Amino acid sequence: MHATHEVFNQPEPLVNYNLFAGNQALQAALAFNAPGLDTASLQALGAQLGTAEMQTHARLANVHTPELRSHSRFGHRIDQVEFHPSYHALMAAAVGAGLHGTPFSVDQQASGHAHMLRAAGFMLFTELEPSMLCPISMTYAVTPALRSNAAIYADWAPQLTSRAYDPALKLWRDKPGVTMGMGMTEKQGGSDVRANTTQAVPDGSDAWGPRFKVTGHKWFLSAPMCDAFLILAQTPSGLSCLFLPRVLPDGARNGLHVQRLKDKLGNKANASSEVEFVGATAWLVGEEGRGVPQILAMGTMTRLDCALGTAGLMRQSLSIALHHTAQRQAFGKRLMDQPLMRNVLADLALESEAATALAMRLARSFDHPADAHEQAISRLLTPIAKFWICKRGSYFSQEAMECLGGNGYVEEGGEGIMARIYREMPVNSIWEGAGNIMAIDLLRALRKADAAAALAHELAPAIGMHPALDRMAAELPIRVEQMANEVEARRLAQDVALAVQAALLAQTAPAAVFSAFCDSRLGGQWGLSFGTLGAGTDFDAILARALPQ
Ligand SMILES: Cc1cc2nc3c(=O)[nH]c(=O)nc-3n(C[C@H](O)[C@H](O)[C@H](O)COP(=O)(O)OP(=O)(O)OC[C@H]3O[C@@H](n4cnc5c(N)ncnc54)[C@H](O)[C@@H]3O)c2cc1C
Repeated sequence: MHATHEVFNQPEPLVNYNLFAGNQALQAALAFNAPGLDTASLQALGAQLGTAEMQTHARLANVHTPELRSHSRFGHRIDQVEFHPSYHALMAAAVGAGLHGTPFSVDQQASGHAHMLRAAGFMLFTELEPSMLCPISMTYAVTPALRSNAAIYADWAPQLTSRAYDPALKLWRDKPGVTMGMGMTEKQGGSDVRANTTQAVPDGSDAWGPRFKVTGHKWFLSAPMCDAFLILAQTPSGLSCLFLPRVLPDGARNGLHVQRLKDKLGNKANASSEVEFVGATAWLVGEEGRGVPQILAMGTMTRLDCALGTAGLMRQSLSIALHHTAQRQAFGKRLMDQPLMRNVLADLALESEAATALAMRLARSFDHPADAHEQAISRLLTPIAKFWICKRGSYFSQEAMECLGGNGYVEEGGEGIMARIYREMPVNSIWEGAGNIMAIDLLRALRKADAAAALAHELAPAIGMHPALDRMAAELPIRVEQMANEVEARRLAQDVALAVQAALLAQTAPAAVFSAFCDSRLGGQWGLSFGTLGAGTDFDAILARALPQ
């Protein structure tokens, strides 16, 4: 044995740190949106999620991907998905942290900030591992829609809100906790679900209300091992929302066959499947024939999670980039001290803080269902946040990856997560309503008086603080009025997002962050890639705020 070389100038891993304690942007967003919130549980979660043990679970759950076992060795259909134990460890941690249905429990509601607290926890967990959060997110989102069938909700609510995870395929009442998913997309249409062909034939009625026999398919059904799903199917009255459990109340398996698992770009730890319904039993939720608005009550909340999740992924990739460049030397200096690298990192930091501010502002609206302004904010900011934050995610993660040079592109480099983040980013933009659908939805919202007034109200506190923001705020209502059709809807969604982000930063971030954001994103002192901030930017202040430790 003889040494060929000495290993040096490679960074120490970013591990055993507190994801919450180092995230000043998230803390500022919480202080602004939920003043007085007790953040002790987030401190504890942040410490847990930064440990080597949790990082190892995240890696293993992605390397050992889920496998479908459609039949038993004796030829019986079992439709089971097998996961690595690390997947279950992550699920237990997320459910234990109350990131699924817990905010809807009576004791959590009493705090007045249950959704904010959960949103911050969800963002932090995404930094560790985003893909297994898919069923967590759907279980969180299902309650507003499921409540329309009071009998089913009364039976399932204790398990939906409990902090216990049980992956067994059993009758819901024999389990301490359950998860739920959603099935809308079919082969012939995903955005336009009116094209759904799955049929639901009336089959009597029982304690859970009108019952149907369902025959058809879903082209995408993520997390098929969930205990139940809300699905769309055509009843005699039109497209309707139905509750379809995997195990029926008498203990028999329902007619849901998992055909195969999708082989995806990323999102590896999450099983996404194609399924067929073979005379499956399901119960009506909401009004028959009004399935789309009914299931959209769930879609609205999963869209919030797309924004929160992307903001979390941005934060994690920024943390890794900062951590790496603070240790790596090139051309006689730390990378972080090279002027152009400072520009790239500061530009990423602005984007990350703006994404956090917007996603958390949206989350606040869900804590105030009886407040008309907050409801208008929820209608307005959901498509904006889902569109803009998720659109920025892919560019962001590419640039953060590049800060690590070749190590960033290697699976085990970049703390083992940079490549995973890069692969994950596009899905948040595609599922739950792709970019165009969100932009068109925003235009629809802004044409209503309450959403337009809500936008003006949100921008008002920052008017007079930066000329570019003042200009944009004055122009937006005119643009909406003059817009003949949706051809410029993306441009509108982008500009509304930037204006709202700027107004939030005016209230939550130091002056250096606010002015650099406005100068670049609103004032035109910016290029088409990250790292194009003007020379007068206060790079020191922006970077000092963003450091993860
Ligand atoms: C990993 C993964 C998991 C998923 N899990 C689920 C799940 O659990 N349940 C579920 O129901 N679905 C799920 N989906 C499906 C997802 O929600 C759909 O793929 C998405 O809604 C888009 O539908 P589509 O694929 O049919 O594309 P299309 O509807 O064909 O859209 C294609 C493109 O056209 C654009 N477009 C559509 N209409 C218009 C228009 N009027 N004007 C301009 N542009 C338009 C869209 O923005 C999109 O960019 C999942 C998808 C992925 C990738």
